[in-house]
Amino acid sequence: MRLKDKVAVVTGSTSGIGKASIIKFAEEGAKVVVWGRTNEEVEAVVNELKDAGKEVLGVTADVSVAEEVNSAMDKIKDHFGAIDILVNNAGITADAQLMKMTEEQFDKVIAVNLKGVYNCGQGAAKVMAEQKSGVIINVSSVVGIYGNFGQTNYAATKFGVIGMTKTWAKELGRKGVRVNAVAPGFIVTEMTAKMPEKILDAMKAKSPLGILGEPADIANAFVYLASDEAKFVTGTVLSVDGGVVL
Ligand code: NAP
Repeated sequence: MRLKDKVAVVTGSTSGIGKASIIKFAEEGAKVVVWGRTNEEVEAVVNELKDAGKEVLGVTADVSVAEEVNSAMDKIKDHFGAIDILVNNAGITADAQLMKMTEEQFDKVIAVNLKGVYNCGQGAAKVMAEQKSGVIINVSSVVGIYGNFGQTNYAATKFGVIGMTKTWAKELGRKGVRVNAVAPGFIVTEMTAKMPEKILDAMKAKSPLGILGEPADIANAFVYLASDEAKFVTGTVLSVDGGVVL
């Protein structure tokens, strides 16, 4: 077990990559925190993990609202006494080409994907700096490296996440905190299920491997970065994308 007794928080762990990751972290021995926006969704994953005999806490908070994030961090600290790993995974899309994108579409993606990462990163960093140890993993995207047609808002946030990652790595290294980003390629989840079949086929065709990724591929990368195997790794962006853009 690579994460025995570590307290691991994954935002947006009620579905997709986040859910696969929180399950993987628990299998690796971590005490885990399931985080989502609705009690029902959170409780469903909490119960699944409890039934499997795992140590788990559920929190319901919108990552874009600082007060809710701060209360969630307090609840985690009170319950487990520490925060060892934070994965800033919660994210949304609201796609439109530049000339058709509305202010509302732009603002809501910025609020969740960029301000949400800042809110949670700040809250966890305060706890980790006090502990003098911790790992933060920010979820960017292949779109945060190369851009993508129809995703002005999303691309801006995913490039921004890489900027925050490198900045935090510089600020927090001496406090014993490592900070890295993971840039997934196209992974089969509810988010990509909304995309037209022809785009998914085009993505498959672009990858030298000829396949799309699975949530477990990303969860495995998180476990590596969260574990002591990566103790000399900070400020990096790990692409897990099947070589989709080479
Ligand atoms: P998903 O299946 O749609 O899951 C998103 C998760 O985020 C859900 O658990 C959702 O929970 C939560 N969430 C959304 N808004 C939230 C908010 N304001 N506060 C708290 N939680 C919120 O997405 P996914 O495909 O697994 O993506 C996960 C991350 O990977 C995202 O950051 C995404 O940008 C990134 N990514 C995905 C792909 C891909 O191909 N799937 C590729 C590159 C990067 P509730 O709805 O229950 O609140």
